[in-house]
Amino acid sequence: MRVLVIEDEHKIANSIKKGLEQEAFAVDVAYDGTEGYDLASTESYDVIILDLMLPGIDGMEICKKLRAEKIHTPILILTAKGQLEDKVKGLNSGADDYLTKPFTFEELLARVKAMTRRPANLTGVVLKVDDLSLDTISYEVKREPRLIKLSAKEYALLEYLMRHANQTLSKDQIISHVWNYDADILPNTVEVYIGYLRNKIDRPFKNKPALIQTIRGFGYKIG
Ligand code: CA
Repeated sequence: MRVLVIEDEHKIANSIKKGLEQEAFAVDVAYDGTEGYDLASTESYDVIILDLMLPGIDGMEICKKLRAEKIHTPILILTAKGQLEDKVKGLNSGADDYLTKPFTFEELLARVKAMTRRPANLTGVVLKVDDLSLDTISYEVKREPRLIKLSAKEYALLEYLMRHANQTLSKDQIISHVWNYDADILPNTVEVYIGYLRNKIDRPFKNKPALIQTIRGFGYKIG
């Protein structure tokens, strides 16, 4: 899951980035509206966290412009305390949810997680492919009957593959949802991480079918 944070207060922006990265999200930060709008309209994100009062283009305007361009990425608006009018305007301009400052990181995380639950996954927070399961709340990954320990990046990659089970995903698609804009991605980074995942979810289970498949010339799929 890749998140864009558009917030001019560096302290808030950086603490959101740090917190979300610890939860295995890839996070880009823009400290003004112009850069934020540029990133939001050219890169692909799973959620955008958007402050309203911003230098450059303000948050409400960004929201309207993105929706006008048919970019439907879920948007969580951050509003200052008591600005009810802002909330109403924000939701009318196409935002999906709002959070009033000051907020705790737990509140923010709960909203972001709720927003990334796509309709296809409404049946629950546990993603399943064959006998492999991934719990997006507790981060528990299990291939029956064993619990599997993953690093944050391995988890993020597996979650992305499982949310798109049985679909072939290109390396570019994977990179743009699992790593942030500034990350040092070498051409074989995805292969390397796919290798790590295979070593944990396929190789130890000799009597079971391999779940991660390489689609030569296209990318990877799980299923
Ligand atoms: Ca602000």
